[in-house]
Amino acid sequence: MAIVDVGARIRTVNHWIGGNPVASNSGRSGDVWNPATGEAQAKVDFASAADVDHAVEIAKQAFVEWRASALSRRAEVMFKLRELVDANRRRIAEMLTSEHGKTVLDALGEVARGLENIEFACGIPNLLKGGFSEQASRGIDVYQIRQPLGVVAGITPFNFPAMVPMWMFPLAIACGNTFILKPSEKDPSVSLYLAELMKQAGVPDGVFNVVQGDKVAVDRLLEHPDVKAVSFVGSTPVARSIYETGTRNGKRVQALGGAKNHMLVLPDADLGMAADAAVSAAFGSAGERCMSISVVVAVGSVADPLIAAIRERMSRIKVGPGMEEGNEMGPLITREHRDRVASYVANASSEGATVAVDGRQDAACQRSGFFLGTSLLDHVEPSMRCYRDEIFGPVLSVVRAGTYDRALRIINENPYGNGVAIFTRDGGTARQFQFDVDAGMVGVNVPIPVPVSYYSFGGWKASLFGDLHIYGPDGVQFYTRTKVVTARWAAPETNKAPGTSAVDLGFPQSR
Ligand code: NAD
Repeated sequence: MAIVDVGARIRTVNHWIGGNPVASNSGRSGDVWNPATGEAQAKVDFASAADVDHAVEIAKQAFVEWRASALSRRAEVMFKLRELVDANRRRIAEMLTSEHGKTVLDALGEVARGLENIEFACGIPNLLKGGFSEQASRGIDVYQIRQPLGVVAGITPFNFPAMVPMWMFPLAIACGNTFILKPSEKDPSVSLYLAELMKQAGVPDGVFNVVQGDKVAVDRLLEHPDVKAVSFVGSTPVARSIYETGTRNGKRVQALGGAKNHMLVLPDADLGMAADAAVSAAFGSAGERCMSISVVVAVGSVADPLIAAIRERMSRIKVGPGMEEGNEMGPLITREHRDRVASYVANASSEGATVAVDGRQDAACQRSGFFLGTSLLDHVEPSMRCYRDEIFGPVLSVVRAGTYDRALRIINENPYGNGVAIFTRDGGTARQFQFDVDAGMVGVNVPIPVPVSYYSFGGWKASLFGDLHIYGPDGVQFYTRTKVVTARWAAPETNKAPGTSAVDLGFPQSR
């Protein structure tokens, strides 16, 4: 591991530049916590603008050779990376659990979904095929090629420290770009392990780099003239600002933001299935997923029996350290975040909601880590703060809607539009919902509709700034630019070779 031990207990997580760990010269660093114990377990370097400039320069130099590498070679290193990540799933998962807090089982799921994106990148020769039109005019062919952009950057959130970077760098690099990752400062170690695996897979030094840090590093990436594109995943205010600054500086930007995902349940739904789905999707990873269900919209008579079924399931969730087998929900990422999430439960009744289950009473809250049990808020209205804000924790709200039309209106009026789900046995209603709803990813009896890697992931409205979704076919478009070539090669006997052409000031025509 490229993590330097500086004492008996505390280690420093460095940058990774040019194929090696590199210490920062900024003199600034942050604490990396173990959320299950509440103790600091490492320091992470915070890059200065000069550290970022160094990484960009190295990546720029590496681009010259890498963009010229054979497609089969790029596919080969992605196949090797796939094998290495596959062989080290457990190690990666435990690293995630130690710094993020999610259970090892959940972390293994994260690794599996990241791996899918490497598998997609293995098909790069096929993905970069262009179009070719023979005889667009007599003796003239037209074809389109896709070329990489140069140095591209990825800025990623704390909640998926392995998967979200894997949404970005395998495809960006397979497309021929060189890459700079700025991971979340809250759980940075896995980024260095992935860098080591990239090196073992045969990726040349300088093609994949990591700069650790905060806003200073991000700001420099956004203004650096040699960074050609930025993929960002994080909260909406930061996503909006990254999009505005990056595009103002002439960069291609895709900035994925926060979410408030609704699950609409109709009276004809399979109640047990809907309750299982709501509980799994609301409380998995302690609700720290951008595709978590945070609002159940219960239509008509389904509300009371659905809430009873959800409460019954919630009472059985085991909260505790993610490393301990049998625990289903770990702690939150930091003490401050845990306290912020708990404040929504504390304030819910003064807003007029009913606290049906209070997660602050969970026995796990007695532990020294950043634990909070699962909460259920009933009779929530769209005007309340607990509805309007992205809470990003184990709090599920229930909005009771009299009719399907009102439920749809509530969902479509929400400023976010990431994921949404409908639970019903009526295929016609589900199809109409899919047609009407303003969200980028829709689940029909599926609560977390994260697209498989050969589709693309992205929300609508305040959940995404930019034109293209992330990974999959949109990812190939994002990380390449097209060039169209119009070429004249005529056989000598037709007497139409370029050397025999005549002066003609008219605009070129093809007939
Ligand atoms: P965040 O916005 O605080 O941080 C994301 C990244 O931006 C980190 O690398 C961080 O260091 C950097 N950053 C933070 N503040 C910054 C600033 N002012 N200027 C420049 N850079 C800054 O998000 P987070 O708390 O790490 O992650 C949780 C958020 O991410 C939630 O809102 C969640 O919904 C969202 N998220 C969205 C998706 C999606 O696909 N839409 C996926 C995962 C997470």
